[in-house]
Amino acid sequence: MRRDKLITTFILVGLVAGVILGQWLHGAASDPTAVGNQWMDVGKLILVRPLMLLVLPLVFLSVVVGVTSIGDPSRLGVIGGSTLLYYFSTMLAAVILGAVLVTAISPGVGLSEEAVASLQNDGAAAYETNSGLRNAMGTANEKGLAGAWMNILEQIIPTNFFAELAGGRTLGVIVFALLLGLALAASGTAGAPAIAVFQSLFDGVMRLVLWILWLTPIGVFMLVTGTVAKIGLGSIAGPLGAYMLTVLAGLALHAFVTLPLVLMIFTRTNPYAFFFKMRKALLIAFGTDSSSATLPVTIETAIDEGGCSKRSSNFVLPLGATVNMDGTALYEAVAVVFMFQLWGIELGVGELVIVVVTATLAAVGAAGIPSAGLVTMVIVVTAVNTSLAGRGIQPLPLEAIGVIIGVDRILDMCRTTVNVWGDAVGARIITRLAPDDDDPPPLPA
Ligand code: ASP
Repeated sequence: MRRDKLITTFILVGLVAGVILGQWLHGAASDPTAVGNQWMDVGKLILVRPLMLLVLPLVFLSVVVGVTSIGDPSRLGVIGGSTLLYYFSTMLAAVILGAVLVTAISPGVGLSEEAVASLQNDGAAAYETNSGLRNAMGTANEKGLAGAWMNILEQIIPTNFFAELAGGRTLGVIVFALLLGLALAASGTAGAPAIAVFQSLFDGVMRLVLWILWLTPIGVFMLVTGTVAKIGLGSIAGPLGAYMLTVLAGLALHAFVTLPLVLMIFTRTNPYAFFFKMRKALLIAFGTDSSSATLPVTIETAIDEGGCSKRSSNFVLPLGATVNMDGTALYEAVAVVFMFQLWGIELGVGELVIVVVTATLAAVGAAGIPSAGLVTMVIVVTAVNTSLAGRGIQPLPLEAIGVIIGVDRILDMCRTTVNVWGDAVGARIITRLAPDDDDPPPLPA
């Protein structure tokens, strides 16, 4: 317990020191972008890569262990169904909140002509220079909405387990782990040795997580320093300030009002006390920008400190890190509507509904890695453009996304934190359906 408190305090110190040093570097360095990138590269080496190393083995093992401990397929069906219902209803609530806020605040309306022109030019230039992002977006754009669905379906029905592992596609790994877990549980005594091996491997990987945790303060310090050095806190006061504040307000409302209400209704626990207990994972999500990289710590914190059952955490958190992204969904809705506002294109109610539906899909399709939401946003833009074309209105050029690239990392830190918070709330709620202390499920004869 003392170790956890110590690490969390160190992470917090690293984070605050990172903001201060980063802001100083932003003003003092001759090329803040290059300096920021260097700090971030070292931070990735120290923290993100070691954590990512554990993610796929952990996803596989924790789902197998979780499913075998739940055992009974019909019980698993109830738990799985409730989990999916929780994911989609909270994501929908987040995205609707985002759409309402961006429409009410209208951060892209009322800027001076010069400000709009300079944002558009800078955005086009940023889009041009960022070839990696441009290519990823180009592919997503070509495939369109049907392609996005197909991509998710193909991941759910994989053909080669090892290709899914090698490609880092967690959804396919989860599906196989789920099926294998079910089969092992149904095998009775014949499955018991394999279950024991997987359980023991899971415990081993979790011990590795505890060791890697000691790297988190320095890693978070380097990553935050790099991000703030690159972007600078002053961006909040720039022409994109209103947009950033809209995203941040939406994330704050979802994290501190909507999710706590849901948690309170279903578990009658104090949501803010639970938030505090989960703070280690939330701080790491903020620092690493990646719900996948945070997953090992999310599982550890939820079980050891958050009062979530192993059964629930092992099942809900790996799936949540891949599928459940409340923060990303909300952000995509705000960002897309903002860009249309900036280009002076008015969206009707029909288009807003398209934004809500496709932003949820885009968030599901986004991997739990930095900037994933920025890429899948193309799906939303393309869908709205198609609807506008039907009304004879000019589409939004894809390079519009360049406008928000520059400040994205800061927003990414915040939305990733909300993504992980949403997963943790889910694990806490599902703990009621899958507690650890009830009778172990009877093995079928
Ligand atoms: N970075 C986010 C995550 O890992 C995904 C995104 O919105 O870009 O959860």
